[in-house]
Amino acid sequence: MDFPILNTKVYDKPLVYLDNAATTQKPQQVIDALTQYYLTLNSNIHRGAHYLANQATERFEAVRRQVQEYINAPSSAQVVFTRGTTESINLVASSFCQKFLHEYDEVIVSGMEHHSNIVPWQLACERVGARLKVIPFSDEGVLDLDVYESLFTKRTRLVAVNQVSNTLGTVNPVKEMAAIAHGHGVPILVDGAQSVAHMPIDVQDIDCDFFCFSGHKMYAPMGVGVMYGRQELLEQMPPYHGGGEMIKEVTFEKTTYNELPFKFEAGTPSVADVLGLGAAIDYIRQQGIENIARHEEELMRYAMSQLKEIPNIRFIGTAPHKAGVISFLIGSSHPYDVGTLLDKLGIAVRTGHHCTQPIMDRYGIPGTVRASFASYTTKEDIDALVAALHRIAPMLD
Ligand SMILES: *Cc1c(COP(=O)(O)O)cnc(C)c1O
Repeated sequence: MDFPILNTKVYDKPLVYLDNAATTQKPQQVIDALTQYYLTLNSNIHRGAHYLANQATERFEAVRRQVQEYINAPSSAQVVFTRGTTESINLVASSFCQKFLHEYDEVIVSGMEHHSNIVPWQLACERVGARLKVIPFSDEGVLDLDVYESLFTKRTRLVAVNQVSNTLGTVNPVKEMAAIAHGHGVPILVDGAQSVAHMPIDVQDIDCDFFCFSGHKMYAPMGVGVMYGRQELLEQMPPYHGGGEMIKEVTFEKTTYNELPFKFEAGTPSVADVLGLGAAIDYIRQQGIENIARHEEELMRYAMSQLKEIPNIRFIGTAPHKAGVISFLIGSSHPYDVGTLLDKLGIAVRTGHHCTQPIMDRYGIPGTVRASFASYTTKEDIDALVAALHRIAPMLD
């Protein structure tokens, strides 16, 4: 078993972990990377003249190249380490918008964004008097690309959209959306939090200008994420945080900034977590991201064929192209009640609005029950969910 925590028993029942869109579990080799770092390498990076500092720096920078390769970035200088997707998006919303967003300008987001890809743009818009425009989506959970096209004006400065919705599971056509944005001379940010561990990612093929993701949703530790950006934009953008490492020279009269990517990495980063991210990328490589994608697709087919037999089940998000995320409701019962009953049977799902309240408003529901998959999810996990739902469905309503 690569993932020790999956041997856990809850309420004396084997754990069935189906909350992978919230965070994935960590394989032994990622856990080992953390302990090895603190056992043998711990020291602050980039500044040291001693052995440990040099070793740690080398390993840290090697992970940057691993990330570069994993997402096919043109250079590792375009890979900025952050604390996660939320910080990555805030970095762009703060720095890019400071430079490029002015009064009466517009930012386009989709109606199915995570709060982390809404609120930073609202804050940026409020600061300067710009406004947010929203791409609507169909009942199935498919973005309306005709309306998307029609939202562009000469005031549009940026598009921000997720590649996979964490609530609906929809895989959005980000490559096509990037082409449309660029047709209007507008850059696009892709929130890859739900795609990066589930399908091959090629930022040059997508041709996005920014790509943001979290380590903890791709088998890596919490506390590390990535902001990839197009070089020309990153060079023009002001620093996000000020402090150590991001400077070239500081005097009280004037400070000059470090080169990319260090300009955006003020202060001591979470070195152990970055090394853990490297171990997670190794793990995904060993499994093969194509194999993981195929496995999860197969699980989706398997799960849907059985879940549709559950009495009174209603699926939220039925797009033709979906990742391993299933949101549903049973009759008129509250998602929280369903989640609690499943929990007592050892099944971990998420309930609520999943940080996507506008999606709940769109459907007029308080929340959903969400089951989401990872590479280690098995047909037995699905069977357990299906059996449990058959068992509890009569208790509801
Ligand atoms: C989880 C998630 C985020 C936020 O990620 P954090 O790791 O909490 O910063 C943003 N967007 C989507 C689509 C997500 O699923």
